[in-house]
Amino acid sequence: MTAMEQIMQDGIGANTRIKSPAKQYQCEKCHDTGWMTILEDGHEFARRCECRKRRKAEEALKASGIAIAFQDKSLGNYRPKNATQADALNRAEKYVEIFGQYRMHMNFMLMGQNGAGKTHLAIGIANALIKKNVLVRYVTFYDLLDAFSNAKKERDLKKVVQQYQKAELLVIDDIFRTTIREWNGKKNPLMSHIDSMFRVINYRYENIKGTIITCEKTTEELLKMDQAIGGRLVECARGNIIDFKDPMLDHRIHGQ
Ligand SMILES: [Zn+2]
Repeated sequence: MTAMEQIMQDGIGANTRIKSPAKQYQCEKCHDTGWMTILEDGHEFARRCECRKRRKAEEALKASGIAIAFQDKSLGNYRPKNATQADALNRAEKYVEIFGQYRMHMNFMLMGQNGAGKTHLAIGIANALIKKNVLVRYVTFYDLLDAFSNAKKERDLKKVVQQYQKAELLVIDDIFRTTIREWNGKKNPLMSHIDSMFRVINYRYENIKGTIITCEKTTEELLKMDQAIGGRLVECARGNIIDFKDPMLDHRIHGQ
């Protein structure tokens, strides 16, 4: 008997194999298969596990960049510095609580002053709703325009637009930021993007889908910039429009 034959007969190879450590599952219910076996009247049924939707949401969020840059931002660690910010936090918490239940309250708008933590609040809402299995998509306005620009064919553009139309909750950060200087209602290279933008917002308006925006302009200014887009956002944001004011700016302008 050769040495190799001896080893095989003794089964040393099998016995010395290192046992893999007990696997850690993200979901104990389905062991990450996405399926659960349900026993009903003595019959086994396969059912989609609820974690599947959550995992898809996490993947969608990760793809958008929010998980990396803002994964630690929550409503719980937002620290209000004045009454407006405290009020904004209250409304944000309420929004999470009743999300998807009322058409008139399906949007949330964080307007005005930079430095008030508008993005933090928007992401905080998004993260809270992901925990409630809502499919969230977050995008900065700048990246949204880029996505429109990168679509060379009408078919590609349609796909991009659909992606943002269909999200259960869409967060657009810093809406209209890059177009402010060009904005006179005149024809400019961004006008076709604004058309795509309208398709996204109008679809969401018609299909009762929640949209959160942050914007450095006031609500009035937003409506002046684009009545169609602004009007649809405002109409379904009742009670959820926060206009942050910059006390220092007031001071500089009014000298008080
Ligand atoms: Zn599961």
